[in-house]
Formats: sequence, C-alpha cells, structure tokens
Amino acid sequence: MTEIFVYNTEARKKVLFEPVDPKNVRMYVCGPTVYGEAHIGNARPYTVFDILFRLLRHVYGETHVSYARNITDIEDKIMDRAAEEGVSIKTITNRYTKIFQEDIRALGSLEPTTEPRATDHIPEMIKMMRTLIEKGNAYEADGHVMFHVPSMENYGRLSRHSRDELVAGARVEVASYKKDPADFVLWKPSSDEQVGWGSPWGRGRPGWHLECSCMIEKQYGETIDIHAGGQDLIFPHHENEIAQSECTNGKQFVRYWMHNGYLTVDGVKMSKSLGNFHTIRDLLNDHGGEPLRLSLLTAHYRQPVDFSHDNATEQKRRLDRWYRLVDGVTASATVPQSVIDALSDDLNTPKAIAALDALASAETAADLKAGANFMGFLLTATDDWFRGDAPEGITTEEIEAMIQARKNARANKDFAESDRIRAALTEKGIALEDSAGGTTWRKAD
Ligand SMILES: [Zn+2]
Repeated sequence: MTEIFVYNTEARKKVLFEPVDPKNVRMYVCGPTVYGEAHIGNARPYTVFDILFRLLRHVYGETHVSYARNITDIEDKIMDRAAEEGVSIKTITNRYTKIFQEDIRALGSLEPTTEPRATDHIPEMIKMMRTLIEKGNAYEADGHVMFHVPSMENYGRLSRHSRDELVAGARVEVASYKKDPADFVLWKPSSDEQVGWGSPWGRGRPGWHLECSCMIEKQYGETIDIHAGGQDLIFPHHENEIAQSECTNGKQFVRYWMHNGYLTVDGVKMSKSLGNFHTIRDLLNDHGGEPLRLSLLTAHYRQPVDFSHDNATEQKRRLDRWYRLVDGVTASATVPQSVIDALSDDLNTPKAIAALDALASAETAADLKAGANFMGFLLTATDDWFRGDAPEGITTEEIEAMIQARKNARANKDFAESDRIRAALTEKGIALEDSAGGTTWRKAD
C-alpha cells in the first residue's frame, strides 16, 4: 500500500500518516462563513485538501474515506449583512452557500462527503457547554459562557504561543466578566432583534470555535484523523477547538493537523483598499476553472502562493499543451506512479505537475490524461477555451470551415489544396495540430 507522509503542524514535522481505522478515514476542513462571495484566498484550502481527499480515496478506497466541510451559517458578519438588506440570515446564508458550492465545483474539487451546518448543531453545543461547566473548564458570566483557559494544562500546544501571545490573541474579547484575560467565548447573549436560540444561560448564539468541535463530534466521534484549514486558523480557532473537545471527553481530538499557507496577489497581501481583491467568481470568468485550479497548485500548499493574471495565463498555456496531446486519447487505467509518489510526499503538487509535464508527449498522452484527471483536470472542456480566442481578422467559424475544407482536400488526396489552407491559416496566426482525434487549432505562439 502507498505510504502517505504529511506535515503535522502539532508535531512540526513530516510524519507517516496512519489512520485510526483504514476502513473509515475521516478528514475535516473548516468551511466558509457564508456572508459574501468567497475570495481567491478562500479557494486555496478547498483546492489543496481536495487533492488530499483524492489521494486518500486512491489509497484507502473511495468508500473508506469521509470528508466533512462545514458551513458556518451563524456569525456577526452574517447578521450585519442580513440587517443591511433587511432579510433573514437564512436568505443570506442560502445565497452565499450556493455561490460557494458552485465556485468550488467550478474549480474542479470533488463534493465533500458531508457538509454540516452550524445552526443544525445547537443542541450538541448546549450539551458540550454543560459538560465543560460541570468539569470546571467553563463558566457562565453576564449571559455568556466562557472557556476558562487556565483550566487546561496543555492549552496552547498547537500554536506554541507564549502566555503573552495567548492573551493578545484573546484581546478582542476583553471584558470585565472574564476570569482570565485569555478566556474565550463559547456562547454570547442575543438581543431581542438579534438571531438567537434558547439555552440554560439565556437566549443567545454560539461562538465560532464551538461549532466545529460539535460538528466534528457529531459526524465522526471523539477522535478524527485529519483536521485541516488555512494557517491563520491555527490560533485561536484550532487551539480552541482542541480545548473544547479534549476537555469535554478527555480523548485526543485530532491525529494530524494540516495547514495551508497564505495567498498573495502580485506579491502583496490581498485587500479591498489595495484594489487587488479578487472573488473566485470574477477569476473564474476571467480564466476558467482549470487554469485557476492549476495556478493554485503550482506552489507547495505550506508555502505562500502568489496569484497573478500572468500566472493564470501561463497555466492556461500549459493546459493548452496537455489538451492538444490528450485530444481523442483514452486515459490509462492506472494513475502514473510519479504523480502518486509526488502527492504522497506531503502533497507535493509542484512535483506532481512537473511529473505531468514529463508525460506531455504523444507516446505518454494516455498517462498524462490519467494523471491530470486524478488531480482534478478533466481535460474535456467542450467549449474551446483552451484554444484561445480567434486572432483579429478571422472568426472561429471561418477557422472551423477552413479546417473542414482542408479535411475534405486531404480525403481527396489534394495535398496542394490542404497545404494551401494550412498556409493561409498560418498567415492569420493560426496553428493546426493533427492527432488521432482530428485537427485542432490554436493561436500560434
Ligand atoms: Zn473550524
């Protein structure tokens, strides 16, 4: 069996992946908070950990791997958006959940096995808070339920933050009712106008961290194999998930923590004020799903990845080459070992892409197709995006008509005519490629 090595954030090293139960491998990736269109940085974890999902399915069997990606459908930003538009939070969360799912699908990722929603887990959250209060890990204060950080001996072990950093991280929630400045919110009160649920501590709503702990326990039980997300989630979000879950049941919560690096745009942090803020949707329109997916995978997932229109265009050219080679070719039945080897080494996607490039020749086109398919590139787009638009002075229809005329000439063994047509197209900046599947065209380089 293929051995998979992953970098475990908690151990700070690359280790052999060994699931609790190879017949039931469970991974969880923190999903989006649905209050607006997701940006390209949000797409990164759902693309790189989709590769992990595919690899696990390949190694353990499709029916033996389960992937949960939650939807955070209660949060202050959602409530603000609903208030702005004068609609219910359900209207907002349904709208942006649908857009998110469409975007991630267009990027070529598989559907997760399950997509739990936070608001479907309120009873589980109340139960967990009750247990934490009983065990002395949480307390009620002023309509809030707070997790008491000093009650957990090894709190902070994932982020390895100092006491000062832990306090600084919890600073946003500085409040007079905190017993310790590092304590964090499990439940907060809602006013009459705000969305809320009844609880033993009054009407209120959950804090974000609590949701994931409860969804994981409900879906998968006390211990899961892999928990993944962006590196900005290590602290406080994932640190707090560990605190809640392990103090509730005393079991190891997660065996392997995996975190992806940041995404920059043209070398700088993406921000609305810099005007370099791109939604996934806008970029899908500009570049198409496959070039965008490929550009997200060109860097190793733990390294920063830089998005630029130039890089997306470059990936489109790379896909052009693959498309032309696999045209009319049936994919090999097995995934090339070079691709599996690269991905088994802590999801080394740059190496896997290099392995695909090494297979990009007419003799190995069937392997190229199998490897590309495995990584989520179907190479079957029925539109002709990969050929590029027709150059000025000629239309796509005219090109297609000339290709047909050339085909007829060749069938009649009129090679002079067929050469004349090819030359005429070359003059217009069109290159033709003949393969077993027929003739395709593209803009000449
Ligand atoms: Zn989470």
